[in-house]
Amino acid sequence: MIQFSTPLIELKNTKRFLPKLKKLGIETVKDLLWHFPFRYEDFSNIVAIKDLKIGQYATVQGVIQSIKMRRTWKRRMFIIEALIGDDTGSIRAVWFNQRFLIMMLKKNSRLNLAGKITEAPEGGLVMSHPVFEILTYKKEKEGLSHTGRVVPIYPETKGLTSKGIRFLIKPLIDNMEEIEDFLPKEIIEKQNIFNINKAIQLVHFPEKIEEAKEAKKRFAFEDLFFLQLNNLRQRMKLAQEMAYSSELSVDEIKELLSEIPFELTYSQKKSLWEILQDLKKPHPMSRLLQGDVGSGKTIVAILAALVLAKDGKQTAFMAPTEVLAKQHFETFKKFFKKFDKGTGLITGSMVKVFYGDGLESDIKKIDLIKKIENSEIKIVFGTHALIQKYVKFKDLALVIIDEQHRFGVKQRSELLKNQSSEAVPHLLSMSATPIPRTLSLTVFGDLDLSIIDELPKGRKEIITKIVAPVNRDKAYAFIRGQVKKGRQVFVICPRIEPQTQMDADETQINADEMNAFYPRLSALSNLRKSVLLWENAKMVKEEYEKLSQKVFPDLRVGMMHGKMKAKEKNEAMKNFNEHKTDILVATSVIEVGVDVPNASIMMIEDADKFGLAQLYQFRGRVGRGEYQSFCFLFTESGSKSTHHRLRSLIEAKNGFELAEKDLAIRGPGEFLGEEQTGIPDLAMKAVRNPELVKSSRQAAESILKNDSELEKYPLLKKRLESFQQEVHLE
Ligand code: ADP
Ligand code: MG
Repeated sequence: MIQFSTPLIELKNTKRFLPKLKKLGIETVKDLLWHFPFRYEDFSNIVAIKDLKIGQYATVQGVIQSIKMRRTWKRRMFIIEALIGDDTGSIRAVWFNQRFLIMMLKKNSRLNLAGKITEAPEGGLVMSHPVFEILTYKKEKEGLSHTGRVVPIYPETKGLTSKGIRFLIKPLIDNMEEIEDFLPKEIIEKQNIFNINKAIQLVHFPEKIEEAKEAKKRFAFEDLFFLQLNNLRQRMKLAQEMAYSSELSVDEIKELLSEIPFELTYSQKKSLWEILQDLKKPHPMSRLLQGDVGSGKTIVAILAALVLAKDGKQTAFMAPTEVLAKQHFETFKKFFKKFDKGTGLITGSMVKVFYGDGLESDIKKIDLIKKIENSEIKIVFGTHALIQKYVKFKDLALVIIDEQHRFGVKQRSELLKNQSSEAVPHLLSMSATPIPRTLSLTVFGDLDLSIIDELPKGRKEIITKIVAPVNRDKAYAFIRGQVKKGRQVFVICPRIEPQTQMDADETQINADEMNAFYPRLSALSNLRKSVLLWENAKMVKEEYEKLSQKVFPDLRVGMMHGKMKAKEKNEAMKNFNEHKTDILVATSVIEVGVDVPNASIMMIEDADKFGLAQLYQFRGRVGRGEYQSFCFLFTESGSKSTHHRLRSLIEAKNGFELAEKDLAIRGPGEFLGEEQTGIPDLAMKAVRNPELVKSSRQAAESILKNDSELEKYPLLKKRLESFQQEVHLE
């Protein structure tokens, strides 16, 4: 019997694969068993050679009638060619550059060949690179792992093929000790899912594809269930913590509202009200404020901060970028000129204070930190700089996080830890990504939701056009006309697909598929990310050069990308903000939430490469001022479905509608972006299945209702802890 925790090094026939397995993060039997296939091929039907059809995936059983190796003199390739025959006919099989096969495959041996049937250029049927299994008497009866059955296909790494992985896993499955299931029996029964042993066995070697699906469902359920357990326990824990409770009065709020030059929309008022109700409670709020780009979330958050400032309490307002932090600070100064209780800004390169005298002033970082520490500053805007250890708040009562999906859960808890009093601060997250209900239940299930689903009055609808290559010059001419009228333009460069040379080298399969079922490869994906950053910067430079030299030599063009230093980025943004440039070329990482009312054109290159939700966000950068705004979606694609998809951007009523569509088309991984907080990928896929989300939540509730500490479920408790570590939810 093989034990679960056995290091692979102790198994005889795995030794030579160890370095390669390690590359995939696989070191123990358990790791290997959890290396799931990402798809299956059904070779279960052994087909008579005369019945083979072009395009079919099949297993052929026969005898090697002849086999030879030759060498192409031009490309110096070795070609092995065999003729396989059964009672009904014969078929050719070819392999390239696999010289060793000539030693393994002998004339007259019986074997199974599995693969796709194609037509040879010179006519006749051929199987190229088929998987084979030499048949012995025993093997014919049982134990086939590569042919004559449903065959699992694994994420591969260089030098370790799917076949190799099957070779390693099959004996493990056959000799594995029974694993005790950490999911309680009652749940397995109620959900009608496989127990862990069955699931592991059938995820690797199902008899039928259906069984593999069921097995994957079990694992998806498991991940969702743990997410829900985690969420619910988080909530229960918070409900036991103490927080500052404000005794705000209606008059005070009215007074604050009278200072802003516009009336809040109905949903802004409603959201504010929900937040204020939470702030009255003696337990910490945990709320997500969702609203389309430009729907006015900032002001709602600031109002909450002001209410607390009246009580002498502090708020930390954290934004994902310097540009945004600065912008929030500016907005604040603009609307609340008279606020004299101390406002600060702290980022990597800027430290400022403001005391309501209409002027801001620079200050040493250390001095601002002191003022925060003794509560002389009530509202502090900033970036990550805010959550550094050395920043301590005396009276922190509220933490606001803008565009929160760009922060890890970990940073969030970091901020919550970083304060001296006993009370836990309230938390308000804001996101412009309209997140479909199922997703917010799982990914942000520990948060309450407030939604702003309307835009302030008087906004003009943004005219959105799909621009085919033939109309490019017309679009340029139009843009020039708008700039001459005094408007400004954002240009978003095409996104580099995460399909770099490096990917191609490291893996032989589609990166998305790999990510979907193999989260541990995240180290690889980090590498990929840095390559992407660099490549994206290159794209921006090229586009910048094209636009500034060839297309719009008469206009002022600026650029901004992720590889620039913070200072340079600020400079570029400032120039655009102050209308010293007309056109800003940027990557898709263009700072979310940037507010330049005079910018009225959003031009997106290769729009089809982006998700709908992302395009929607880009478009939201314009249409913020009094001018008619435009969004141009450039695409080279002539594909009908692409145009259909892009058109939904023109037709959808609001971001939520688009989000649902996007989720359905592309799945949540793409939808939320790579930076998402390490939610297991199977669960991410499962999020598309609302039933599973619902039942996982109910299951988690039913377990926690009677046993919130999971004392009756020690295995479950242990597994939950390691799950939390794996996905960094701790
Ligand atoms: P987002 O929700 O994208 O963060 P902002 O808070 O940046 O949106 O608001 C976008 C713009 O709309 C800002 O210039 C803000 O001052 C303005 N705004 C917010 N609420 C209203 C309102 N009720 N009426 C008019 N303008 C508003
Ligand atoms: Mg915003």
